[in-house]
Amino acid sequence: MRKSPQARLLQHYRAHARDLPWRLAPGSNEAPDPYRVWLSEVMLQQTTVATVTPRFAAFLARWPTVEDMAAAPVENILSQWAGLGYYARARNLHACAVEVAARGGFPDTEAQLRQLPGIGDYTAAAVAAIAFGRDAVVVDTNVERVVARCFAIRRPIKDARPEIRQRAAFFYERQPAGEMAQALMDLGATICRPKAPDCAVCPLGPDCAAYATGDPASIPPKPPRKTRPERHGTAYVIEQDDHLFLTRRPDKGVLGGMAALPGSDWADGSAPPSNAPTIRHVFTHFALTLRIESRAQPPSGTEGWWHERSAIADAGLPTLYTKALAAFDAEAESAEQRLPLLP
Ligand code: SF4
Repeated sequence: MRKSPQARLLQHYRAHARDLPWRLAPGSNEAPDPYRVWLSEVMLQQTTVATVTPRFAAFLARWPTVEDMAAAPVENILSQWAGLGYYARARNLHACAVEVAARGGFPDTEAQLRQLPGIGDYTAAAVAAIAFGRDAVVVDTNVERVVARCFAIRRPIKDARPEIRQRAAFFYERQPAGEMAQALMDLGATICRPKAPDCAVCPLGPDCAAYATGDPASIPPKPPRKTRPERHGTAYVIEQDDHLFLTRRPDKGVLGGMAALPGSDWADGSAPPSNAPTIRHVFTHFALTLRIESRAQPPSGTEGWWHERSAIADAGLPTLYTKALAAFDAEAESAEQRLPLLP
């Protein structure tokens, strides 16, 4: 008798599971650590496994337990998060650690987990299933794609979410939810890839409606490209005695609470022409053109601190400002090379 798709998928997972630092190997007798599961799930939202892997190790080395993280100042969490983007996650990470430490550990149900800061439907389901072995239907972007293809759902994911979720429940019915979640995620990451699904080796191939169409990569259809509104502003590079003046972004809003170069507000619209070094940075909801200017003194009333230039990598600057500094330095270097040689 042919095995069910769920059985084939779990069998494939047990033989080929990805070796990831936040995960136990299939069949391990160890109990999963909810702290590691939660931390990895938060870090992996919008960020790739390759980027997260070393950063996860650095977080664990610095804060081995949720109590350690709760006791740290939030600024340290924000600095450690620099470069990972979506900085509200870092603030919520700390707020969640504080609540979990205060209550003596993570709750073990989806409903209770959802009450914690920064934990939405997906993370609650993933932690409940993977860390606590609870029944849950865990659906991340990889799982959405696999399910859309298996059932040949030909609508953009954003419009098809209720149906995808309902169909995804088929995989979880009477199955170990944590293992099934990881099996589906692995399949989406390694075989049912966005552009080139490898259907010939897929354990779901015999039952997959998209494979049967002969063009599985066309499912799900891509949503139309959105154009982002433009904004522009200026950042100031203020240097004295090999130190750079840094400030902190306001707690609320884009890059909230992160270390930053001081500068102007960001205005709506395209940037006016300028000879100063300029970078462009794309955020989720807008694209920013940032002009970088040198100044002798911080703007009056700007709070901040002087950070050693040679240790700038430790300042916790987000990517926007590391790009801005790199552009400023490159321009300064090429200006130096253009200087006429004096006799
Ligand atoms: S058969 Fe192909 S399209 Fe279907 S789930 Fe497997 S890899 Fe994806």
